[in-house]
Amino acid sequence: MKAIVVGGGIGGLAAAVSLRRVGWEVVVYERSESFGEVGAGLGVMPNALRALEWMGVAEEARKLGTPRVSGGVKASDGRWLAHLPEVGQEKIVAMHRADLHGVLLRALPSEILFNNVQVTSVEELDADLVVAADGINSRLRAELLPDAPGPVYAGATAWRGVAPGPHDLPITQTLGPGGEAGVLPLGDGRVCWYVSVVAPPSADLDPVELFADWHDPIPSLIASSPEIIRHDIYQLPPLPTFVSGRVALLGDAAHAMVPYLGQGACMALEDAVTLASVDGDLLRYDALRRPRTQAVWRSSRMAGKFGIEVRSPIALALRNFVFRALPKSTAVRGMTRFSSWQVPAMPR
Ligand SMILES: Cc1cc2nc3c(=O)[nH]c(=O)nc-3n(C[C@H](O)[C@H](O)[C@H](O)COP(=O)(O)OP(=O)(O)OC[C@H]3O[C@@H](n4cnc5c(N)ncnc54)[C@H](O)[C@@H]3O)c2cc1C
Repeated sequence: MKAIVVGGGIGGLAAAVSLRRVGWEVVVYERSESFGEVGAGLGVMPNALRALEWMGVAEEARKLGTPRVSGGVKASDGRWLAHLPEVGQEKIVAMHRADLHGVLLRALPSEILFNNVQVTSVEELDADLVVAADGINSRLRAELLPDAPGPVYAGATAWRGVAPGPHDLPITQTLGPGGEAGVLPLGDGRVCWYVSVVAPPSADLDPVELFADWHDPIPSLIASSPEIIRHDIYQLPPLPTFVSGRVALLGDAAHAMVPYLGQGACMALEDAVTLASVDGDLLRYDALRRPRTQAVWRSSRMAGKFGIEVRSPIALALRNFVFRALPKSTAVRGMTRFSSWQVPAMPR
């Protein structure tokens, strides 16, 4: 059985690794000049680590990610709203995107990877299974589901970078007025960070100014990053199906979500392993993946409403009070509510 994967991002490569493990002959088509990922960080949660374990690459990923450090949620003045021991490795493995992408790339033989190939229609593809892993602006999705709405602006913009920094920083998510910031130490002298604010699309804003009075090390990480990437945040309204004929949508092509729970790429890894588990039964893939990813999509949206979108001083004080009053076990449950996912049973 032959599968063609369209898109060589984290989702597409994970699909190729997974399908090959259950015996599919796979090729990957990527439109860019080379296979790679932009320089920024990514949180890999325990559910996604389980998917990587099944693919046989989790050990390598763990080694490249955050060491055992504490972590939690802070207010913009640096006070802890929730502080937990051993967040690093236990609750999240923060990785450089290029490192995660590299781990998947090394698990594939180079002769099945074709770059500089821009797929324009499913009709061009001669395969038993086509995996549309071509990202949030998926061309294949637009062809197969022409009536489904496309991506919509989610009301916020984000900047991301990698800066030099100490090995033992805690992993933090900081919530401030109309914005949030994340610090993801990699344990090798590099610290990945992201900041986002509520803003109109393409607004002329400078993150150095916006986050100047947030707690350390946020301002210094922004200032010392050699390169800063900016993304306006878009999300894909829930689709009526993830499959059409022999085509399965996977990753952001199926369910691009706001990044406030850090589960977008994790869902793509789960999709990949699940697709390998259904033995070509795409309706089963849709039944297993659509409810789960759409629940995570909705919760991510909700996390934004109680996080980045809170702006008035009264609402902010109330939100922070509730956070601090929560018992640790509730905070842990909140952070890990999608982490218990298990790899589905595989075909014999
Ligand atoms: C600010 C921000 C922070 C985030 N933080 C996290 C996090 O902490 N944890 C997490 O899990 N997720 C996070 N995410 C989400 C995560 O980045 C995405 O969900 C994930 O990268 C999607 O991977 P993908 O492979 O589905 O799509 P993409 O990475 O978009 O890959 C699609 C690939 O397809 C190729 N392509 C497109 N069209 C064609 C075509 N016609 N023919 C051939 N190739 C094509 C593209 O060149 C690209 O390489 C974050 C997202 C943002 C914006």
